[in-house]
Amino acid sequence: MPSELVANMNPQQREGVEAVDGPVLLLAGAGSGKTRVITHRIAYLIKERGVSADSILAVTFTNKAAKEMAERVDKILGHTSLAKPMLATFHSFCVRVLRRDIEAMRVNGVGLTKTFAIYDETDQQAVVKQALKRLAIDDKALKPRVALGRISWAKNHMIDPQEYFLASANPMEEKIAHVFEIYRKELFKANALDFDDLLLETVRLLKSSSEVRERYNRRYRYLMIDEYQDTNRPQYELMKLLAGPEGNVCVVGDEDQSIYSWRGADIRNILEFEKDFPKVQTIRLEQNYRSTQVILEGASAVVAQNTQRKGKNLWTSREGGSLIGYYEAPDGENEALFIADRIQKYLREAGGQEDAPRCAVLYRTNSQSRLVEEALRRYQIQYHMVGGFSFYDRAEVKDIISYMKLVQNVHDSIALSRVVNSPPRGIGKTTMETLERMALSSGMSTWDAIGVAIEDKLLPQRALIALGGFRRLIEDARAMLGPGFAEKLAADVEEQQSADEDASFDVEELEAAPAVDEEADTSFDTSFNFGFDFGPSEEISTIAPENAVDSDAAHEIDAVSFNPFAPVVLKKSAAGSRGKAAAAAKSEVAIPEATEEKPAFRKPGDAATLPELIKFLNDRSGYIRALEDEATPESFSRIENLKELANAAQDAQERGETLHEFLDHAALVSDADSYSADARVTLMTLHAAKGLEFPLVFLAGMEEGLFPHSRTFTDPTGLEEERRLCYVGMTRAMDTLVMTRARYRRRYGSDMPEASIASRFLEEVPSRLVEDLGSPPARPQFSGSDYGNVYATPYPRANRFGGGGADFGERHYSYEDEDQSASRAGSGSGATNAGRSKFS
Ligand code: ATP
Ligand code: MG
Repeated sequence: MPSELVANMNPQQREGVEAVDGPVLLLAGAGSGKTRVITHRIAYLIKERGVSADSILAVTFTNKAAKEMAERVDKILGHTSLAKPMLATFHSFCVRVLRRDIEAMRVNGVGLTKTFAIYDETDQQAVVKQALKRLAIDDKALKPRVALGRISWAKNHMIDPQEYFLASANPMEEKIAHVFEIYRKELFKANALDFDDLLLETVRLLKSSSEVRERYNRRYRYLMIDEYQDTNRPQYELMKLLAGPEGNVCVVGDEDQSIYSWRGADIRNILEFEKDFPKVQTIRLEQNYRSTQVILEGASAVVAQNTQRKGKNLWTSREGGSLIGYYEAPDGENEALFIADRIQKYLREAGGQEDAPRCAVLYRTNSQSRLVEEALRRYQIQYHMVGGFSFYDRAEVKDIISYMKLVQNVHDSIALSRVVNSPPRGIGKTTMETLERMALSSGMSTWDAIGVAIEDKLLPQRALIALGGFRRLIEDARAMLGPGFAEKLAADVEEQQSADEDASFDVEELEAAPAVDEEADTSFDTSFNFGFDFGPSEEISTIAPENAVDSDAAHEIDAVSFNPFAPVVLKKSAAGSRGKAAAAAKSEVAIPEATEEKPAFRKPGDAATLPELIKFLNDRSGYIRALEDEATPESFSRIENLKELANAAQDAQERGETLHEFLDHAALVSDADSYSADARVTLMTLHAAKGLEFPLVFLAGMEEGLFPHSRTFTDPTGLEEERRLCYVGMTRAMDTLVMTRARYRRRYGSDMPEASIASRFLEEVPSRLVEDLGSPPARPQFSGSDYGNVYATPYPRANRFGGGGADFGERHYSYEDEDQSASRAGSGSGATNAGRSKFS
C-alpha cells in the first residue's frame, strides 16, 4: 500500500522518493517533477522513515529556489515538525560550516578564525591594487578588475596560483599568478574570505579535518542536490565530502538545462558521479507535468538541435493546448507595450489582480527589462523583479543619471559626491571631506569649492589634477549642450540661489545630515548574490571542459599545506599539469582589449542630443572602459544597461523631452510604486527563471545577436548553451507561451534602430505549433521631429500613457504609411531553415 506521499506519483518518481539509502542520480527533463521528488523525499524521510529533520540537507542553486523548496516541504509536512531540514544554497551552507568550524584548520595558532570577514568587491579590489603596487605592476597595464576576474575564474576551476603560473602562456598571465598569490595571502592575513573562497575553504576544511568531516557526515545523513547539472568543481568536491561513507546522496538534474558553464559548471560532474558512486541507482523521469503538449513539443524541438546531448523523450498527458504565440513588433517599445497589453487582458480575464494567476516576462540580458518596465508602468500593472534591481535603480544607471544631474546643475552636491570618484579617478575620501567642509563653512556648493581649491592650490597636486580632470569633463559635457543651455542654466541657478537665500535655513540640520552620499564610494560595488540569484546577461569564455586542468592530485596540492607567510615564489620547473592547462590557457586566457565607442558626429554648433550626452559621459568618464576592463558577466551586463540608458534617452528625445524632463522621468520611473513583491507579474532574466513555473510566459527579444547572444556566434559550445537557455525559458510555461521580437531595435542610443533577424531558436520551433499574433509594419517616414524618428512605434499617442486601448491581436493601428519593404528588411532569414517556419 503506497503511502499518501507517493500516492499520486508515477512509478519512477516514487522510486526516487523511496530510494533513500545509497546514491541516486535522477536525470530528467524540465517539469518532470525532479524538484517535487526532492521535496517529497524529504517529507518521506521524516514521516515514513522516522528520520530526524535536522539530519537532512538539501542544496539548491538560488535563494529563491531554496525558499520555494522550504515552502513546498512545509506545505507537505503541514508545519507540524519543530525541527526543520536544512535547505540552503551552496554558499549559505558554507558560511554556516565555516562560522562554526573554520578554526579546525588553524595550525600552531595560525589560520582564519570564526569571525572571518566576507570581502565584497570593493575590498577585493583594494587588495588587488595593493598587490599590483607591491609587484610594481602598472594598474593600467593590468587592471585590477581583470586580475580579479581571472582569480575568480581560477578559483571556480580549483586552480591555485602555482598551477595558474605553470599554465600561464604569457607574461601577463604570469603577473596575474603573482597577484593571485599575494591576494590570497593578504586575505588570509586579514582573516577574510571572498565569495569563491567560501566554497573552497569548506572543501579544504572537510578534507583536512577528518573529525569535522565525520561530524558533518553523522549530522547530515541524507543529502540532496537540485539543479545538479550546474554544479562546478568545488561544489562537486563538497558534495562528495558531505555524502560521506554512507553515500546517501540524491542528485537531480537535467543536462539540457545546464546554463552556468561560465561559472565553471561542469557537465562532467554527471558522468563522474556514476564513477565516484559505483552503486548509484540511476532514475529517469519521462512525464512532464508542467506544460501542455504544444509547449513541450516546441521546447523539445529547439533543444533537439543541440549535438552535445544524449537526448530523451518527454511526454505530457496535457494534450494539445493553445499554440505558441509569436508577435513580431516593429520595434522594442511596441514589443514591450504588446506584452503589457496582453498581461492586462490576462489579469482582467482572471478577475482582477488579486487572485489572478502569475505570469512572467523573461529576457536574455538585464538591460532588456527597461522597456518592459516602462510599458507595465504605463499600463499601471504592478510587477516584481527577481534577482536584480529595477532598471533605474541599478548602480551604473544611477551613476550616469547623477552625471547628467550634475551637467544640468553643477551645484547638485549629492550627484557630485556620487560620481566624483566613479569610476575611480584618484579623488579620495579625504579630498572630498576637505572640499565638503570648505563648502559647508562658506556656503558654497562642492562644485564651487572644487574651483576654489584648484585656483588657490589648497590640496595636494595629485588631487588637484584629478579634480581638474573631473571639472573639465562636466564642463565639456555642458558645452556640448550649446551656449544657450549654459546661459539658461546660469539663470536658473541664480534664481534658485536667491530662492535659497530667502528660505529660512537651518544650519544645524544641515550639519547633522551626512555630507557624503553613502553610495558614493561604493557605486562600483557588485552586490554579492549568495547562490547566484542574478542571471548573468552574458558570459565570458571559460576553459572548455575537455581542456580544463583535470588532475585530481593537483586540486589537493594546496588543500592542507598552504602557508600564507611563505614568500611568493612561483616556479615553472615542475612539470605538473602544465601540458593541457598551458594549451587551455593559450587558447582561452586572453586579456580583452578595450574597445572605444566614439560619439556620433555632429555639425559644429549643434546642441548635443540626449543620447549623445549619455554616450559622451559613458566614454569620457571612463565608465564603460572600466567595466570593459573588468570583463566579467556582471560588468558586461552593466555596459548593456548603460547602452540601454542611451536608448531610453533616444526615446525621450523623440518624445521631445529636455534633459530636465528626462531626469524627471527617470526619477518617477525608479519610484517604487510599481514594484511589489506579491505582484502577479514577474520580470527576470532567463538564468534567474531556472526551476520556476508560470501559467503564462513571455520570451522577449528573440533576435539573433540578442538571443543567441552575438558572443556565441563563433563558439558552438556557447551556442548550445544559449539553446539550452532557450529550452529553460520555454519550459517555464505551463499553459501559454508567447515569444516576441522586434524587427528594429535600438542599439546604444542610435536614432536609427537597426534591423534585426529573427532568432534561430524561433526557426527551430515547428510552424504547426505556432500562432501568428501579428506583425504590424513599421512606419517608414516620420515628420515633425528633428531626431529622425524613422521607425517609431506605431502606437496611438493617447495610449502611450493612458493605459492601453490598442488591440494587438486585431491590428487596430493608425499608421501613416505602410511599407512592407521596411519590415521585410528586418525579418530576413539569415538563420537556419529559412522558409520552414512562420518566423521567417
Ligand atoms: P525543472 O527541470 O524545470 O526544475 P522539475 O523537474 O523540477 O522541473 P517540478 O518543478 O518538480 O519539475 O514539477 C513540475 C510541475 O509538475 C510542478 O507543478 C509539480 O507540482 C508538477 N508535478 C510533478 N510531478 C507530478 C505528479 N506526479 N502529479 C502531479 N503533478 C506533478
Ligand atoms: Mg526543478
